[in-house]
Amino acid sequence: MILVLESGNLQSLFDTLISEKYQIIGPTLDNSALIYDEITNVDDLPVGYTDEQDGGRYRLVKSGGKKYFDYVVGQHTWKRYLYPPEKKLFELKRKGDGFEIVENKQEIHKRAFIGVRACEIEAIRIQDEILLEGPYKDADYERCRQNIFIVAVNCVRPGGTCFCVSMGTGPRATKGFDLAITEIVDNSGHYFLIESGTKAGEKIMKEIKGKEADQNAIETADRLMKEAENKMGRRLDTDDIKELLYRNFESSRWEVVAQRCLNCGNCTLVCPTCFCINIEDISGLEVNSAKRVRKWDSCFTLDHSYIYGGSVRTSAKARYRQWLTHKLASWIDQFGMSGCVGCGRCITWCPVGIDITEEVQAIRESEGKGKIMADKEE
Ligand code: SF4
Ligand code: SF4
Repeated sequence: MILVLESGNLQSLFDTLISEKYQIIGPTLDNSALIYDEITNVDDLPVGYTDEQDGGRYRLVKSGGKKYFDYVVGQHTWKRYLYPPEKKLFELKRKGDGFEIVENKQEIHKRAFIGVRACEIEAIRIQDEILLEGPYKDADYERCRQNIFIVAVNCVRPGGTCFCVSMGTGPRATKGFDLAITEIVDNSGHYFLIESGTKAGEKIMKEIKGKEADQNAIETADRLMKEAENKMGRRLDTDDIKELLYRNFESSRWEVVAQRCLNCGNCTLVCPTCFCINIEDISGLEVNSAKRVRKWDSCFTLDHSYIYGGSVRTSAKARYRQWLTHKLASWIDQFGMSGCVGCGRCITWCPVGIDITEEVQAIRESEGKGKIMADKEE
């Protein structure tokens, strides 16, 4: 089913989701930053804003336009809601001579994510595979993941650090959504082309104030998507990438990048696929209770590789190499897929603008192959 929804009727989608008891989470502004948070009204969206992104640079700017989704991804990811930065797993309370376990019975809402980009859908799929389909199922992730309704937004204007085309993950959402929206402003007006991907999506479509899409709207959306493919801010040559990185374990490029890398871990915290955690046990000063907490961790910290006797990766070089090689090579051996979806966040939010695509290209060129390929393209 494909519908056209006039922009003035977008609220009917929100109202229908709310009447179906969904808590809506979507992009909104907070302290001049674009974040994902609970929203209830279309006016909560960053209407008329767009973003400028480059290595180590993010600016949210007023476009003067009326579009609801004229920006791409910011520093937040949906994993905040599926795999939160900090989570109490359980608590122990003293009871007589022993302890009783108080389980974390936090209520999990039925949620609708609005504005999920194609690369982000792929990132959720990757985390599903790792946290639900592997040998160890994460029960907490499973609880958060169920009852999620995904409203995808196709990217007609990719960001300055996006490279989803290289990773085969975007800019159009092709699966993993309940509804997918393309926002169009043309001679016919300002409207959304909406398609359903699931039965739950179809049910919502029947309730909103749309009309059947005509061929013109469908062709316009197709054209915008094709144009978007050619506007990617970055490109990553993934040919033979696993072998390339394994072959270059001792490349001098790791030293070069390590001189810039602050080991701050920003790149891992903004990445929608990174899933490393640390478990902390915290006891109260009154010695009557203790809790176990799960927190996001980063392979850029010394403690992350600490085993008996010390840390395995003591240098900045070793930690950056571990991160990049895991993302693009050993992740494939581990899980049968890449650990990168090309969202560009690690480039934008790196305070010194280190660029994963540039680092891979530098390693390629050090073998004399990247340069030849670039020459051919010119
Ligand atoms: S690559 Fe950039 S974001 Fe990542 S740890 Fe180094 S300085 Fe921080
Ligand atoms: S490695 Fe960088 S570009 Fe790739 S998914 Fe993570 S944040 Fe996005």
